[in-house]
Amino acid sequence: MRLEDRQLLAAIEGLNVEHQSGISLSEYTSLGIGGTTDLLLIRKHESIPGLLQLLDDRKIPHKFLGGGSNLLVGDGELPWIVVQLARPEPDVVLEGNSAHVDAADDLGRTVTDCAKHDLGGMEGLIGVPGTIGGALRMNAGAYGMQIGSYVREVKLFSAATRTIEILRGDQISFEYRHTSFPPDDMMLAVTLELPSKSYQEIIQGIRICNEKRRASQPLGQKSAGCVFKNPPGASAGRMIDELGLKGFSVGDARVSDRHANFFVNAGKASAKDMLSLIADVRDRVERAYGVKLENEVVVWHA
Ligand SMILES: Cc1cc2nc3c(=O)[nH]c(=O)nc-3n(C[C@H](O)[C@H](O)[C@H](O)COP(=O)(O)OP(=O)(O)OC[C@H]3O[C@@H](n4cnc5c(N)ncnc54)[C@H](O)[C@@H]3O)c2cc1C
Repeated sequence: MRLEDRQLLAAIEGLNVEHQSGISLSEYTSLGIGGTTDLLLIRKHESIPGLLQLLDDRKIPHKFLGGGSNLLVGDGELPWIVVQLARPEPDVVLEGNSAHVDAADDLGRTVTDCAKHDLGGMEGLIGVPGTIGGALRMNAGAYGMQIGSYVREVKLFSAATRTIEILRGDQISFEYRHTSFPPDDMMLAVTLELPSKSYQEIIQGIRICNEKRRASQPLGQKSAGCVFKNPPGASAGRMIDELGLKGFSVGDARVSDRHANFFVNAGKASAKDMLSLIADVRDRVERAYGVKLENEVVVWHA
C-alpha cells in the first residue's frame, strides 16, 4: 500500500514521523520473506496518538513492526502499511533494580546492559532476536524464564482510549507466548524489576544459554524461531522430528535439519511456500498425534 495523499504526507511530516515508500519487508524480517509497502518511522512517542488518528480517519490499515524476528509476511504488494518506533538514544536507564527501556531497544543488548550493572534474571533471553516491544507482545521466553515475570509497568498507546497509558505488571496477563494486550495497542516502553546478581554469574548463565542455542538451532539460517507453540506437556519439534520431517521442504521453505520446529528460508522461499509447508506439517502432526499445532510465528497475510 502506498501513501500518496499530499495532505496526509504533510501532516505525517509535521508530526516528525519519517515516511519510507515502497520498502521490501523481506529486508526487515529474519525469515527474509515479505512483499512491499510503506513504512512510518516514529521518533517521539508523543506523535503516536496523532499519527494513528490520521491513519484511522482515512481507514489506512497498519501493523506494528518490531525487529521482524517472529513474522511471516505475505508476498507482493501488501494491503496495509507498517509503523515502527525509531531506536532512541540513550538506551537503558537504570535506577536501583529497575531498568527503564524503550520498546524499540534491542532485547539482547538490554540483557547485556543490565548485566553490566549487576542486574540479571533475563539470561535465557540472550540470543532471542528482536526488540523489547516484540518481546513484550509475545512474552518472549526461553530456558524456563519469560520477560513477563520481570515487568513492573508498561507504557503503551491504548487503542481503546486513544491515549498513552501506564499499565502495572499485575494488570497484564503474561502466558506462554501470549499476553492480554489488546491487538491494536502499541508498546512504547517498559520498566523491568530485575534481581541483583554478580556480573560474573550473569555472564556464566549467558554462556550456557548461548551454547545450548548453538548446539540445537540453525543460527546461520533465515528463520523466525519456532514456528509452532509447544502443546501442553509435549514438544512440537519432537513430534515433527519423529515423523521424519527434518529437511522436508516446499520450494525453498524447509524444515531445519537441526531443529524440527525451525522452518528456514533456504534460498528464495516465498510466503506461499512457507505457508504451504506449515499447513502440510500441521496436517501430518494432527493425523499422527491428534494434536492441532498452533502457530507461534505471527502471519501477516497479503
Ligand atoms: C533464531 C531465532 C531464535 C528465536 N528464539 C526465541 C526464543 O527462544 N523464545 C522466544 O520467545 N522467541 C524466540 N524467537 C522469536 C522472536 O525473536 C521473538 O518472538 C521476539 O520477541 C519478537 O520480537 P520482534 O521485535 O522481532 O517482533 P516482531 O517479529 O517485529 O513482531 C512480533 C509481534 O509483536 C508485535 N509488536 C512488535 N513490536 C510491537 C510494539 N512496539 N507494540 C505492539 N506490538 C508490537 C508485532 O505486531 C507482531 O504481532 C526467535 C527468533 C529467531 C529468528
